[in-house]
Amino acid sequence: MSSQQQLRQQLYRIDGRGYGAYRDIAGKWQLEGGVILHVDHVQADPFASPSRLRLIVPWHKPEHLTDGDRVRGAAGYLARLAQRIVCDVRGKRGSGRSGQIHLDAGGQQLLDRTAVVIRSDELELRISLGLPAAGRRVLGRTAFELLRDLADGLREGLTLTRAQWDQLRQWADLAEDHAALRQGLEEEELVAFVPDGAQLPRESGVSDLPLPFTEVVPFTSPPSLRVTLSVPHRGAVTGMGIPHGVTLIVGGGYHGKSTLLRGLERGVYDHIPGDGREFLVTVSSAVKVRAEDGRSVAGVDISPFISDLPGGQVTAEFYTQEASGSTSQAANIMEALELGCELLLMDEDTSATNFLIRDARMQRLVRGESEPITPFIDRVRELKDRGVSTIMVMGGSGDYFSVADRVIRMDAYEAHDVTLEAHQISQSMPTGRVEETGGRFQEFSSRRPLPHTINSHRRKRTRAEGRGRDTILFGEETIDLAQVEQLVDPSQTRGVATMMLYARQHYIDGKRSFREVLERVYQDWKDGGWERISPYRGHPGDLAYPRPHEVVASFNRLRSLRTRDLD
Ligand code: ADP
Ligand code: MG
Repeated sequence: MSSQQQLRQQLYRIDGRGYGAYRDIAGKWQLEGGVILHVDHVQADPFASPSRLRLIVPWHKPEHLTDGDRVRGAAGYLARLAQRIVCDVRGKRGSGRSGQIHLDAGGQQLLDRTAVVIRSDELELRISLGLPAAGRRVLGRTAFELLRDLADGLREGLTLTRAQWDQLRQWADLAEDHAALRQGLEEEELVAFVPDGAQLPRESGVSDLPLPFTEVVPFTSPPSLRVTLSVPHRGAVTGMGIPHGVTLIVGGGYHGKSTLLRGLERGVYDHIPGDGREFLVTVSSAVKVRAEDGRSVAGVDISPFISDLPGGQVTAEFYTQEASGSTSQAANIMEALELGCELLLMDEDTSATNFLIRDARMQRLVRGESEPITPFIDRVRELKDRGVSTIMVMGGSGDYFSVADRVIRMDAYEAHDVTLEAHQISQSMPTGRVEETGGRFQEFSSRRPLPHTINSHRRKRTRAEGRGRDTILFGEETIDLAQVEQLVDPSQTRGVATMMLYARQHYIDGKRSFREVLERVYQDWKDGGWERISPYRGHPGDLAYPRPHEVVASFNRLRSLRTRDLD
Protein backbone atom coordinates (compact mmCIF):
# COMPACT_ATOMS: atom_id res chain seq x y z
CA MET A 1 0.00 0.00 0.00
CA SER A 2 1.36 3.40 -0.95
CA SER A 3 1.30 6.59 1.05
CA GLN A 4 -0.35 9.97 0.58
CA GLN A 5 3.06 11.35 -0.29
CA GLN A 6 3.34 8.83 -3.11
CA LEU A 7 -0.16 9.57 -4.34
CA ARG A 8 0.79 13.21 -4.60
CA GLN A 9 3.98 12.43 -6.47
CA GLN A 10 2.12 10.15 -8.81
CA LEU A 11 -0.59 12.71 -9.57
CA TYR A 12 1.86 15.56 -9.95
CA ARG A 13 3.92 13.43 -12.30
CA ILE A 14 1.01 12.75 -14.65
CA ASP A 15 -0.26 16.33 -14.50
CA GLY A 16 -0.84 17.56 -18.05
CA ARG A 17 -0.54 14.10 -19.61
CA GLY A 18 -3.26 12.35 -21.61
CA TYR A 19 -6.27 11.33 -19.56
CA GLY A 20 -5.42 7.64 -19.74
CA ALA A 21 -2.50 8.30 -17.39
CA TYR A 22 -4.98 8.39 -14.52
CA ARG A 23 -4.90 4.61 -14.73
CA ASP A 24 -1.72 4.82 -12.69
CA ILE A 25 -3.61 5.68 -9.53
CA ALA A 26 -5.74 2.55 -9.50
CA GLY A 27 -5.16 0.61 -6.30
CA LYS A 28 -4.94 1.16 -2.61
CA TRP A 29 -3.54 4.22 -0.83
CA GLN A 30 -2.88 4.87 2.84
CA LEU A 31 -3.77 8.49 3.44
CA GLU A 32 -3.18 10.64 6.48
CA GLY A 33 -5.34 10.26 9.55
CA GLY A 34 -5.74 6.55 8.98
CA VAL A 35 -7.98 6.90 5.91
CA ILE A 36 -7.61 4.29 3.21
CA LEU A 37 -8.45 5.12 -0.37
CA HIS A 38 -9.27 2.42 -2.87
CA VAL A 39 -9.38 3.54 -6.46
CA ASP A 40 -11.39 0.65 -7.85
CA HIS A 41 -12.18 1.83 -11.31
CA VAL A 42 -10.64 4.63 -13.34
CA GLN A 43 -12.75 6.10 -16.11
CA ALA A 44 -11.25 5.93 -19.58
CA ASP A 45 -11.94 9.53 -20.51
CA PRO A 46 -13.44 12.65 -18.93
CA PHE A 47 -16.85 11.94 -20.43
CA ALA A 48 -17.12 8.28 -19.47
CA SER A 49 -19.09 7.26 -16.40
CA PRO A 50 -17.17 8.51 -13.37
CA SER A 51 -14.43 6.67 -11.54
CA ARG A 52 -15.28 4.62 -8.50
CA LEU A 53 -13.61 5.08 -5.18
CA ARG A 54 -13.97 3.73 -1.71
CA LEU A 55 -12.79 5.66 1.30
CA ILE A 56 -12.35 3.76 4.53
CA VAL A 57 -12.53 5.99 7.54
CA PRO A 58 -11.73 4.91 11.10
CA TRP A 59 -14.92 4.90 13.14
CA HIS A 60 -16.30 3.36 16.23
CA LYS A 61 -19.53 1.50 15.79
CA PRO A 62 -21.80 2.17 18.76
CA GLU A 63 -23.07 -0.83 20.67
CA HIS A 64 -26.70 -0.11 19.98
CA LEU A 65 -26.29 -0.94 16.30
CA THR A 66 -27.18 -4.54 16.78
CA ASP A 67 -29.60 -5.75 14.14
CA GLY A 68 -30.07 -5.17 10.44
CA ASP A 69 -32.84 -2.63 10.75
CA ARG A 70 -30.88 -0.44 13.13
CA VAL A 71 -27.85 -0.61 10.87
CA ARG A 72 -30.00 0.37 7.88
CA GLY A 73 -31.30 3.38 9.80
CA ALA A 74 -27.85 4.47 10.91
CA ALA A 75 -26.40 3.96 7.43
CA GLY A 76 -29.18 6.15 6.04
CA TYR A 77 -28.18 8.90 8.43
CA LEU A 78 -24.46 8.57 7.76
CA ALA A 79 -24.98 8.51 4.01
CA ARG A 80 -26.82 11.81 4.11
CA LEU A 81 -24.19 13.33 6.35
CA ALA A 82 -21.41 12.10 4.09
CA GLN A 83 -23.26 13.34 1.03
CA ARG A 84 -23.27 16.85 2.47
CA ILE A 85 -19.54 16.65 3.19
CA VAL A 86 -18.89 15.44 -0.32
CA CYS A 87 -20.92 18.32 -1.77
CA ASP A 88 -18.91 20.78 0.29
CA VAL A 89 -15.66 19.42 -1.05
CA ARG A 90 -16.98 19.73 -4.59
CA GLY A 91 -18.10 23.28 -3.84
CA LYS A 92 -14.55 24.29 -3.08
CA ARG A 93 -13.46 23.18 -6.54
CA GLY A 94 -15.12 26.21 -8.09
CA SER A 95 -16.81 25.98 -11.41
CA GLY A 96 -15.73 23.97 -14.40
CA ARG A 97 -16.24 20.34 -15.09
CA SER A 98 -13.70 19.13 -12.59
CA GLY A 99 -14.63 16.81 -9.87
CA GLN A 100 -18.23 15.74 -10.10
CA ILE A 101 -18.56 13.78 -6.89
CA HIS A 102 -21.48 11.66 -5.87
CA LEU A 103 -22.40 9.59 -2.87
CA ASP A 104 -25.71 7.84 -3.33
CA ALA A 105 -27.59 8.76 -0.16
CA GLY A 106 -31.08 8.40 -1.59
CA GLY A 107 -34.35 10.25 -1.15
CA GLN A 108 -37.21 10.15 1.33
CA GLN A 109 -37.25 6.38 1.76
CA LEU A 110 -34.96 4.54 4.10
CA LEU A 111 -33.96 1.75 1.76
CA ASP A 112 -31.23 -0.75 2.23
CA ARG A 113 -28.44 0.77 0.09
CA THR A 114 -24.86 0.13 -0.83
CA ALA A 115 -23.32 3.60 -0.47
CA VAL A 116 -22.17 3.27 3.13
CA VAL A 117 -20.96 0.15 4.87
CA ILE A 118 -20.73 0.12 8.65
CA ARG A 119 -18.13 -2.16 10.20
CA SER A 120 -17.09 -2.44 13.82
CA ASP A 121 -14.11 -0.10 13.55
CA GLU A 122 -14.53 1.63 10.21
CA LEU A 123 -16.93 3.12 7.72
CA GLU A 124 -16.65 2.43 4.04
CA LEU A 125 -17.94 5.22 1.80
CA ARG A 126 -18.49 4.49 -1.84
CA ILE A 127 -18.12 7.44 -4.07
CA SER A 128 -18.11 8.14 -7.75
CA LEU A 129 -15.87 10.91 -8.94
CA GLY A 130 -15.16 12.49 -12.28
CA LEU A 131 -11.40 12.77 -12.20
CA PRO A 132 -10.61 16.36 -13.14
CA ALA A 133 -9.45 17.21 -16.62
CA ALA A 134 -8.55 20.17 -18.74
CA GLY A 135 -9.78 19.12 -22.15
CA ARG A 136 -8.45 15.60 -22.32
CA ARG A 137 -5.47 16.21 -20.08
CA VAL A 138 -4.96 15.14 -16.53
CA LEU A 139 -5.31 17.85 -13.90
CA GLY A 140 -3.10 16.01 -11.46
CA ARG A 141 -2.67 18.71 -8.86
CA THR A 142 -6.40 19.41 -8.69
CA ALA A 143 -7.07 15.69 -8.45
CA PHE A 144 -4.70 15.35 -5.55
CA GLU A 145 -6.26 18.25 -3.66
CA LEU A 146 -9.68 16.85 -4.33
CA LEU A 147 -8.84 13.42 -2.99
CA ARG A 148 -7.03 14.85 0.00
CA ASP A 149 -9.89 17.20 0.88
CA LEU A 150 -12.37 14.41 0.41
CA ALA A 151 -10.47 12.16 2.79
CA ASP A 152 -9.93 14.93 5.36
CA GLY A 153 -13.50 16.14 5.07
CA LEU A 154 -14.97 12.70 5.59
CA ARG A 155 -12.65 11.82 8.44
CA GLU A 156 -13.45 15.04 10.28
CA GLY A 157 -17.11 15.23 9.35
CA LEU A 158 -17.79 11.66 10.38
CA THR A 159 -16.34 12.25 13.79
CA LEU A 160 -19.77 12.85 15.19
CA THR A 161 -20.74 15.47 17.71
CA ARG A 162 -22.93 14.50 20.62
CA ALA A 163 -25.98 15.87 18.87
CA GLN A 164 -25.12 13.87 15.76
CA TRP A 165 -24.75 10.67 17.75
CA ASP A 166 -28.22 11.34 19.11
CA GLN A 167 -29.59 11.81 15.62
CA LEU A 168 -27.93 8.65 14.43
CA ARG A 169 -29.61 6.81 17.25
CA GLN A 170 -32.96 8.34 16.30
CA TRP A 171 -32.66 7.07 12.77
CA ALA A 172 -31.75 3.61 14.01
CA ASP A 173 -34.66 3.67 16.48
CA LEU A 174 -37.06 4.70 13.75
CA ALA A 175 -36.00 1.84 11.50
CA GLU A 176 -36.40 -0.61 14.35
CA ASP A 177 -39.80 0.85 15.22
CA HIS A 178 -40.92 0.42 11.63
CA ALA A 179 -39.93 -3.22 11.64
CA ALA A 180 -41.95 -3.71 14.82
CA LEU A 181 -44.88 -1.82 13.33
CA ARG A 182 -44.91 -4.10 10.29
CA GLN A 183 -44.94 -7.04 12.64
CA GLY A 184 -47.78 -5.44 14.59
CA LEU A 185 -49.73 -4.96 11.36
CA GLU A 186 -49.65 -8.68 10.79
CA GLU A 187 -50.60 -9.55 14.37
CA GLU A 188 -53.55 -7.18 14.33
CA GLU A 189 -54.60 -8.52 10.92
CA LEU A 190 -54.40 -5.12 9.32
CA VAL A 191 -53.24 -4.37 5.79
CA ALA A 192 -52.27 -0.76 6.43
CA PHE A 193 -51.75 1.76 9.17
CA VAL A 194 -51.79 5.54 8.82
CA PRO A 195 -50.67 7.33 11.98
CA ASP A 196 -52.47 10.32 13.41
CA GLY A 197 -50.47 13.40 12.53
CA ALA A 198 -49.08 12.01 9.27
CA GLN A 199 -48.34 14.64 6.65
CA LEU A 200 -49.11 12.99 3.38
CA PRO A 201 -49.11 15.63 0.63
CA ARG A 202 -45.93 16.25 -1.27
CA GLU A 203 -44.39 19.48 -2.44
CA SER A 204 -45.38 18.90 -6.05
CA GLY A 205 -46.20 16.23 -8.58
CA VAL A 206 -42.52 15.80 -9.35
CA SER A 207 -41.13 16.06 -5.85
CA ASP A 208 -41.23 13.55 -3.03
CA LEU A 209 -40.41 16.20 -0.43
CA PRO A 210 -43.13 17.10 2.06
CA LEU A 211 -45.43 20.03 1.47
CA PRO A 212 -44.45 22.77 3.97
CA PHE A 213 -46.22 21.82 7.18
CA THR A 214 -48.05 25.12 7.49
CA GLU A 215 -50.06 24.13 4.41
CA VAL A 216 -50.84 20.59 5.50
CA VAL A 217 -53.89 19.24 7.23
CA PRO A 218 -52.37 16.42 9.30
CA PHE A 219 -54.05 13.06 9.05
CA THR A 220 -56.52 12.07 11.77
CA SER A 221 -58.07 8.64 12.00
CA PRO A 222 -61.84 8.30 12.13
CA PRO A 223 -62.58 7.16 15.70
CA SER A 224 -64.11 3.87 14.54
CA LEU A 225 -60.91 2.82 12.77
CA ARG A 226 -58.46 4.07 15.34
CA VAL A 227 -56.04 1.51 16.69
CA THR A 228 -53.03 1.76 18.94
CA LEU A 229 -49.91 -0.17 18.06
CA SER A 230 -46.88 -0.23 20.24
CA VAL A 231 -43.29 -0.04 19.11
CA PRO A 232 -40.10 -0.25 21.19
CA HIS A 233 -38.87 3.35 21.04
CA ARG A 234 -41.76 5.63 20.24
CA GLY A 235 -44.06 3.60 22.46
CA ALA A 236 -47.75 3.77 21.57
CA VAL A 237 -48.65 4.99 18.09
CA THR A 238 -52.28 5.67 17.28
CA GLY A 239 -53.79 5.95 13.86
CA MET A 240 -56.10 4.43 11.30
CA GLY A 241 -55.83 0.68 10.99
CA ILE A 242 -57.26 -0.71 7.79
CA PRO A 243 -58.31 -4.36 8.24
CA HIS A 244 -58.35 -7.02 5.54
CA GLY A 245 -61.16 -6.80 3.04
CA VAL A 246 -62.45 -4.24 0.60
CA THR A 247 -61.96 -0.60 1.51
CA LEU A 248 -63.22 2.32 -0.52
CA ILE A 249 -61.87 5.83 -0.31
CA VAL A 250 -64.56 8.21 -1.54
CA GLY A 251 -65.00 11.96 -1.52
CA GLY A 252 -65.24 15.00 -3.72
CA GLY A 253 -62.59 15.96 -6.24
CA TYR A 254 -59.49 17.55 -4.72
CA HIS A 255 -60.27 16.38 -1.20
CA GLY A 256 -57.14 14.27 -0.72
CA LYS A 257 -58.20 10.78 -1.88
CA SER A 258 -55.30 10.12 -4.20
CA THR A 259 -52.86 11.63 -1.73
CA LEU A 260 -53.95 9.11 0.89
CA LEU A 261 -53.68 6.25 -1.58
CA ARG A 262 -50.22 7.39 -2.65
CA GLY A 263 -49.20 7.39 0.98
CA LEU A 264 -50.37 3.80 1.23
CA GLU A 265 -48.46 2.82 -1.92
CA ARG A 266 -45.27 4.15 -0.41
CA GLY A 267 -46.01 2.53 2.93
CA VAL A 268 -44.21 -0.57 1.71
CA TYR A 269 -41.05 1.43 2.47
CA ASP A 270 -39.88 3.19 5.62
CA HIS A 271 -39.56 6.95 5.49
CA ILE A 272 -36.86 9.11 6.97
CA PRO A 273 -37.31 11.36 10.01
CA GLY A 274 -39.06 14.57 9.04
CA ASP A 275 -40.70 13.14 5.94
CA GLY A 276 -44.23 13.20 7.32
CA ARG A 277 -44.90 9.57 6.43
CA GLU A 278 -43.03 8.03 9.35
CA PHE A 279 -44.98 5.14 10.89
CA LEU A 280 -47.22 4.83 7.85
CA VAL A 281 -46.95 1.18 6.89
CA THR A 282 -48.62 -1.10 4.39
CA VAL A 283 -48.16 -4.85 4.08
CA SER A 284 -44.96 -5.37 2.17
CA SER A 285 -46.59 -7.28 -0.69
CA ALA A 286 -49.00 -4.43 -1.48
CA VAL A 287 -49.11 -3.59 -5.17
CA LYS A 288 -50.48 -0.52 -6.84
CA VAL A 289 -52.18 -1.55 -10.05
CA ARG A 290 -53.26 0.71 -12.82
CA ALA A 291 -54.14 0.76 -16.47
CA GLU A 292 -51.06 0.83 -18.62
CA ASP A 293 -52.11 0.69 -22.23
CA GLY A 294 -49.35 -0.01 -24.67
CA ARG A 295 -47.38 -2.37 -22.42
CA SER A 296 -46.58 -5.87 -23.57
CA VAL A 297 -47.97 -8.92 -21.79
CA ALA A 298 -46.39 -12.37 -21.84
CA GLY A 299 -48.50 -15.41 -21.16
CA VAL A 300 -50.57 -14.01 -18.31
CA ASP A 301 -53.88 -15.67 -17.46
CA ILE A 302 -56.26 -12.73 -17.53
CA SER A 303 -59.31 -14.94 -18.07
CA PRO A 304 -60.85 -14.10 -14.66
CA PHE A 305 -61.39 -10.62 -16.03
CA ILE A 306 -61.26 -10.91 -19.78
CA SER A 307 -62.52 -13.67 -22.01
CA ASP A 308 -63.68 -14.10 -25.60
CA LEU A 309 -61.79 -11.25 -27.16
CA PRO A 310 -62.85 -10.40 -30.69
CA GLY A 311 -60.64 -12.42 -33.01
CA GLY A 312 -60.64 -15.34 -30.56
CA GLN A 313 -57.41 -14.52 -28.71
CA VAL A 314 -56.63 -16.86 -25.85
CA THR A 315 -56.88 -15.00 -22.57
CA ALA A 316 -55.82 -17.87 -20.32
CA GLU A 317 -52.33 -17.34 -21.70
CA PHE A 318 -52.55 -13.86 -23.02
CA TYR A 319 -49.85 -12.36 -25.21
CA THR A 320 -49.83 -8.91 -26.68
CA GLN A 321 -47.34 -6.27 -27.69
CA GLU A 322 -49.88 -3.58 -27.05
CA ALA A 323 -52.39 -4.08 -24.27
CA SER A 324 -55.47 -1.92 -23.95
CA GLY A 325 -56.36 -0.07 -20.77
CA SER A 326 -58.46 -2.90 -19.39
CA THR A 327 -56.28 -5.82 -20.50
CA SER A 328 -53.20 -4.11 -19.09
CA GLN A 329 -54.89 -3.53 -15.77
CA ALA A 330 -56.04 -7.15 -15.67
CA ALA A 331 -52.50 -8.30 -16.43
CA ASN A 332 -51.08 -6.02 -13.73
CA ILE A 333 -53.43 -7.57 -11.20
CA MET A 334 -52.78 -11.17 -12.22
CA GLU A 335 -49.02 -10.61 -12.18
CA ALA A 336 -49.26 -9.16 -8.68
CA LEU A 337 -51.28 -12.16 -7.48
CA GLU A 338 -48.79 -14.53 -9.06
CA LEU A 339 -46.10 -13.23 -6.69
CA GLY A 340 -48.30 -13.48 -3.61
CA CYS A 341 -49.72 -9.97 -3.35
CA GLU A 342 -52.07 -9.56 -0.37
CA LEU A 343 -53.23 -6.02 -1.02
CA LEU A 344 -54.22 -4.35 -4.27
CA LEU A 345 -54.22 -0.57 -4.37
CA MET A 346 -56.20 1.14 -7.11
CA ASP A 347 -57.12 4.69 -7.99
CA GLU A 348 -59.95 5.53 -10.33
CA ASP A 349 -57.73 8.32 -11.71
CA THR A 350 -55.39 5.75 -13.24
CA SER A 351 -57.78 2.88 -13.91
CA ALA A 352 -59.69 1.89 -17.00
CA THR A 353 -63.33 2.76 -16.29
CA ASN A 354 -64.69 -0.27 -18.13
CA PHE A 355 -62.42 -2.47 -16.05
CA LEU A 356 -63.78 -1.13 -12.76
CA ILE A 357 -67.49 -1.03 -13.45
CA ARG A 358 -70.28 -1.55 -15.95
CA ASP A 359 -73.54 -0.14 -14.71
CA ALA A 360 -77.06 -1.45 -15.21
CA ARG A 361 -77.83 0.64 -18.26
CA MET A 362 -74.68 -0.37 -20.02
CA GLN A 363 -75.35 -4.00 -19.12
CA ARG A 364 -78.72 -3.63 -20.80
CA LEU A 365 -77.30 -2.10 -23.96
CA VAL A 366 -74.20 -4.24 -24.36
CA ARG A 367 -75.17 -7.79 -23.54
CA GLY A 368 -72.86 -10.15 -21.70
CA GLU A 369 -71.88 -12.20 -24.74
CA SER A 370 -70.45 -9.24 -26.67
CA GLU A 371 -68.57 -7.86 -23.66
CA PRO A 372 -65.34 -9.68 -22.86
CA ILE A 373 -64.73 -7.90 -19.55
CA THR A 374 -65.90 -9.04 -16.15
CA PRO A 375 -65.47 -5.82 -14.22
CA PHE A 376 -63.41 -5.72 -11.06
CA ILE A 377 -66.49 -5.02 -8.94
CA ASP A 378 -67.69 -8.57 -9.62
CA ARG A 379 -64.37 -10.13 -8.62
CA VAL A 380 -63.33 -8.12 -5.65
CA ARG A 381 -65.22 -10.21 -3.05
CA GLU A 382 -63.83 -13.40 -4.45
CA LEU A 383 -60.33 -11.98 -4.14
CA LYS A 384 -61.07 -11.11 -0.55
CA ASP A 385 -62.11 -14.71 0.10
CA ARG A 386 -58.72 -15.73 -1.20
CA GLY A 387 -56.92 -13.45 1.19
CA VAL A 388 -56.36 -10.55 -1.19
CA SER A 389 -57.57 -7.20 0.12
CA THR A 390 -58.30 -4.13 -1.95
CA ILE A 391 -58.09 -0.45 -1.14
CA MET A 392 -59.57 1.64 -3.87
CA VAL A 393 -60.18 5.32 -4.54
CA MET A 394 -63.62 5.59 -6.06
CA GLY A 395 -65.35 8.92 -6.17
CA GLY A 396 -67.36 8.24 -9.30
CA SER A 397 -69.51 5.15 -8.74
CA GLY A 398 -71.61 4.19 -5.74
CA ASP A 399 -72.11 0.71 -7.16
CA TYR A 400 -69.05 -0.32 -5.16
CA PHE A 401 -70.86 0.38 -1.87
CA SER A 402 -72.46 -3.04 -1.98
CA VAL A 403 -69.12 -4.87 -2.19
CA ALA A 404 -67.19 -2.73 0.29
CA ASP A 405 -66.45 -3.75 3.87
CA ARG A 406 -65.75 -0.17 4.77
CA VAL A 407 -65.97 3.22 3.18
CA ILE A 408 -63.77 6.15 4.12
CA ARG A 409 -64.81 9.57 2.95
CA MET A 410 -62.20 12.28 2.53
CA ASP A 411 -63.65 15.66 3.23
CA ALA A 412 -61.28 18.64 3.00
CA TYR A 413 -58.42 16.20 3.77
CA GLU A 414 -60.20 14.76 6.77
CA ALA A 415 -61.04 11.09 6.89
CA HIS A 416 -64.49 9.95 8.01
CA ASP A 417 -65.87 6.46 8.36
CA VAL A 418 -69.11 6.49 6.31
CA THR A 419 -69.53 2.73 6.05
CA LEU A 420 -72.93 2.65 7.70
CA GLU A 421 -74.32 5.41 5.51
CA ALA A 422 -72.95 3.79 2.39
CA HIS A 423 -74.47 0.44 3.27
CA GLN A 424 -77.83 2.05 4.00
CA ILE A 425 -77.72 3.78 0.64
CA SER A 426 -76.85 0.59 -1.14
CA GLN A 427 -79.85 -1.10 0.46
CA SER A 428 -82.31 1.67 -0.19
CA MET A 429 -81.14 2.40 -3.74
CA PRO A 430 -80.58 -0.82 -5.68
CA THR A 431 -78.26 -0.36 -8.63
CA GLY A 432 -80.12 -2.73 -10.89
CA ARG A 433 -76.83 -4.33 -11.88
CA VAL A 434 -76.59 -8.00 -12.59
CA GLU A 435 -73.53 -9.64 -11.12
CA GLU A 436 -71.29 -10.91 -13.90
CA THR A 437 -69.20 -13.69 -12.51
CA GLY A 438 -68.37 -16.34 -14.96
CA GLY A 439 -66.04 -19.09 -13.74
CA ARG A 440 -64.29 -18.72 -10.45
CA PHE A 441 -60.63 -17.89 -10.12
CA GLN A 442 -58.48 -20.89 -10.82
CA GLU A 443 -55.22 -21.21 -8.95
CA PHE A 444 -53.34 -17.99 -9.55
CA SER A 445 -51.10 -18.82 -12.46
CA SER A 446 -47.42 -19.40 -12.10
CA ARG A 447 -45.49 -18.68 -15.24
CA ARG A 448 -42.09 -20.08 -16.06
CA PRO A 449 -39.99 -17.58 -17.98
CA LEU A 450 -38.18 -19.11 -20.94
CA PRO A 451 -34.48 -18.25 -20.86
CA HIS A 452 -33.92 -17.94 -24.62
CA THR A 453 -36.49 -15.13 -24.70
CA ILE A 454 -34.55 -13.08 -22.15
CA ASN A 455 -31.43 -11.96 -23.92
CA SER A 456 -29.07 -9.69 -22.04
CA HIS A 457 -26.61 -9.37 -24.91
CA ARG A 458 -26.12 -6.44 -27.15
CA ARG A 459 -23.40 -6.56 -29.75
CA LYS A 460 -21.87 -9.52 -27.93
CA ARG A 461 -21.68 -7.62 -24.66
CA THR A 462 -23.86 -7.95 -21.60
CA ARG A 463 -26.08 -5.00 -20.95
CA ALA A 464 -28.44 -4.58 -17.99
CA GLU A 465 -28.43 -1.01 -16.78
CA GLY A 466 -30.80 1.26 -14.96
CA ARG A 467 -31.25 4.69 -16.49
CA GLY A 468 -32.96 7.02 -14.09
CA ARG A 469 -35.98 5.77 -12.22
CA ASP A 470 -38.02 4.78 -15.26
CA THR A 471 -35.86 2.89 -17.68
CA ILE A 472 -33.79 -0.26 -17.89
CA LEU A 473 -31.62 -1.08 -20.84
CA PHE A 474 -31.58 -4.84 -21.12
CA GLY A 475 -29.81 -6.43 -24.06
CA GLU A 476 -31.26 -4.80 -27.15
CA GLU A 477 -34.37 -3.66 -25.36
CA THR A 478 -35.43 -0.59 -23.48
CA ILE A 479 -37.82 -1.46 -20.67
CA ASP A 480 -40.26 1.25 -19.70
CA LEU A 481 -41.04 1.28 -15.98
CA ALA A 482 -42.68 4.70 -15.83
CA GLN A 483 -45.99 3.18 -14.76
CA VAL A 484 -44.51 0.86 -12.17
CA GLU A 485 -45.36 3.31 -9.48
CA GLN A 486 -43.80 1.75 -6.41
CA LEU A 487 -40.34 1.99 -7.85
CA VAL A 488 -39.08 5.13 -6.14
CA ASP A 489 -35.41 5.64 -6.72
CA PRO A 490 -32.94 5.40 -9.63
CA SER A 491 -30.70 3.26 -7.44
CA GLN A 492 -33.55 0.84 -7.00
CA THR A 493 -33.94 0.68 -10.75
CA ARG A 494 -30.24 -0.14 -11.03
CA GLY A 495 -30.87 -2.76 -8.37
CA VAL A 496 -33.66 -4.23 -10.48
CA ALA A 497 -31.41 -4.39 -13.55
CA THR A 498 -28.70 -6.08 -11.52
CA MET A 499 -31.09 -8.65 -10.08
CA MET A 500 -32.58 -9.34 -13.50
CA LEU A 501 -29.20 -10.15 -14.93
CA TYR A 502 -28.31 -12.33 -11.97
CA ALA A 503 -31.65 -14.13 -12.19
CA ARG A 504 -31.17 -14.71 -15.90
CA GLN A 505 -27.62 -16.00 -15.48
CA HIS A 506 -28.25 -18.26 -12.52
CA TYR A 507 -31.82 -19.37 -12.14
CA ILE A 508 -34.06 -18.79 -15.12
CA ASP A 509 -34.03 -22.19 -16.78
CA GLY A 510 -37.50 -22.60 -18.21
CA LYS A 511 -38.49 -24.89 -15.35
CA ARG A 512 -38.60 -22.54 -12.41
CA SER A 513 -41.47 -20.14 -11.98
CA PHE A 514 -40.85 -16.43 -11.50
CA ARG A 515 -41.59 -16.89 -7.85
CA GLU A 516 -39.07 -19.67 -7.43
CA VAL A 517 -36.44 -17.73 -9.35
CA LEU A 518 -36.92 -14.68 -7.19
CA GLU A 519 -36.86 -16.67 -3.97
CA ARG A 520 -33.44 -17.91 -4.91
CA VAL A 521 -32.13 -14.55 -5.98
CA TYR A 522 -33.25 -12.93 -2.73
CA GLN A 523 -31.81 -15.76 -0.69
CA ASP A 524 -28.44 -15.18 -2.35
CA TRP A 525 -28.79 -11.48 -1.70
CA LYS A 526 -29.47 -12.16 1.97
CA ASP A 527 -26.51 -14.52 2.23
CA GLY A 528 -23.96 -12.66 0.16
CA GLY A 529 -25.19 -9.09 -0.19
CA TRP A 530 -24.94 -7.07 -3.37
CA GLU A 531 -21.34 -8.14 -3.85
CA ARG A 532 -22.74 -11.52 -4.69
CA ILE A 533 -25.34 -10.21 -7.11
CA SER A 534 -23.52 -7.35 -8.76
CA PRO A 535 -21.27 -8.09 -11.69
CA TYR A 536 -19.33 -4.83 -11.32
CA ARG A 537 -15.73 -5.03 -10.50
CA GLY A 538 -14.95 -2.65 -7.71
CA HIS A 539 -17.84 -1.59 -5.56
CA PRO A 540 -21.55 -1.46 -6.20
CA GLY A 541 -22.01 1.83 -4.39
CA ASP A 542 -25.17 3.05 -6.05
CA LEU A 543 -27.71 0.30 -5.59
CA ALA A 544 -30.80 0.23 -3.41
CA TYR A 545 -33.12 -2.58 -2.45
CA PRO A 546 -36.00 -3.33 -4.82
CA ARG A 547 -38.88 -5.63 -3.94
CA PRO A 548 -39.28 -8.87 -5.87
CA HIS A 549 -42.46 -7.39 -7.28
CA GLU A 550 -40.59 -4.63 -9.09
CA VAL A 551 -37.98 -7.05 -10.43
CA VAL A 552 -40.64 -9.26 -11.96
CA ALA A 553 -42.56 -6.17 -13.12
CA SER A 554 -39.51 -5.33 -15.16
CA PHE A 555 -39.26 -8.82 -16.68
CA ASN A 556 -42.95 -8.59 -17.46
CA ARG A 557 -42.36 -5.51 -19.58
CA LEU A 558 -39.59 -7.09 -21.62
CA ARG A 559 -41.14 -7.31 -25.06
CA SER A 560 -39.30 -10.47 -26.06
CA LEU A 561 -40.44 -12.43 -23.00
CA ARG A 562 -42.21 -15.75 -23.51
CA THR A 563 -43.40 -17.95 -20.69
CA ARG A 564 -44.97 -21.29 -20.07
CA ASP A 565 -47.60 -21.92 -17.46
CA LEU A 566 -46.80 -24.25 -14.62
CA ASP A 567 -49.25 -27.12 -14.75
P1 ADP B 1 -58.39 13.88 -5.00
O1 ADP B 1 -57.72 12.59 -5.39
O2 ADP B 1 -59.39 13.70 -3.92
O3 ADP B 1 -58.97 14.60 -6.16
P2 ADP B 1 -55.73 14.77 -4.28
O4 ADP B 1 -55.32 13.74 -3.32
O5 ADP B 1 -55.16 14.71 -5.64
O6 ADP B 1 -57.31 14.87 -4.37
O7 ADP B 1 -55.38 16.15 -3.58
C1 ADP B 1 -55.67 17.39 -4.16
C2 ADP B 1 -54.67 18.43 -3.69
O8 ADP B 1 -54.73 18.61 -2.30
C3 ADP B 1 -53.24 18.07 -4.00
O9 ADP B 1 -52.58 19.22 -4.48
C4 ADP B 1 -52.66 17.66 -2.67
O10 ADP B 1 -51.29 17.93 -2.57
C5 ADP B 1 -53.45 18.48 -1.70
N1 ADP B 1 -53.60 17.78 -0.42
C6 ADP B 1 -53.90 16.48 -0.25
N2 ADP B 1 -53.96 16.14 1.05
C7 ADP B 1 -53.69 17.28 1.73
C8 ADP B 1 -53.59 17.59 3.12
N3 ADP B 1 -53.77 16.66 4.06
N4 ADP B 1 -53.28 18.85 3.46
C9 ADP B 1 -53.08 19.79 2.52
N5 ADP B 1 -53.16 19.56 1.20
C10 ADP B 1 -53.46 18.32 0.80
MG1 MG C 1 -57.54 11.74 -7.31
